[in-house]
Amino acid sequence: MKHRGGKFSMPEGYCVKCKARKEIVGAVEETMKNGRKAIKGKCPTCGTVMFKILGGKGSSAPATPQPEAPGPAASDPPKPTSSS
Ligand SMILES: [Zn+2]
Repeated sequence: MKHRGGKFSMPEGYCVKCKARKEIVGAVEETMKNGRKAIKGKCPTCGTVMFKILGGKGSSAPATPQPEAPGPAASDPPKPTSSS
C-alpha cells in the first residue's frame, strides 16, 4: 500500500460485529434525507456494512437528558401480621 500525501485518511467507524473501531472500507459519502452527511462502507474484517453519521450541524453529541433515577424503591411497608 502506498500512502501519497496525508490529506485523505480512511474514515473510521464502529463495527458492531467486531465490537471495535475499524477503518471503513470503500467509504462513500451519502447525504441523508434530513440533510446530514454520512459515510457508508464496510468493515475490513467481517464485511459488515458500517454507517457513520457526520455531524454536519456542529452538534457533536445529541443531548439526551438522563434523569438520575434512584432506582426502584422497595416500597414494602412493614405489615404486622397479627394472627386473629
Ligand atoms: Zn467487523
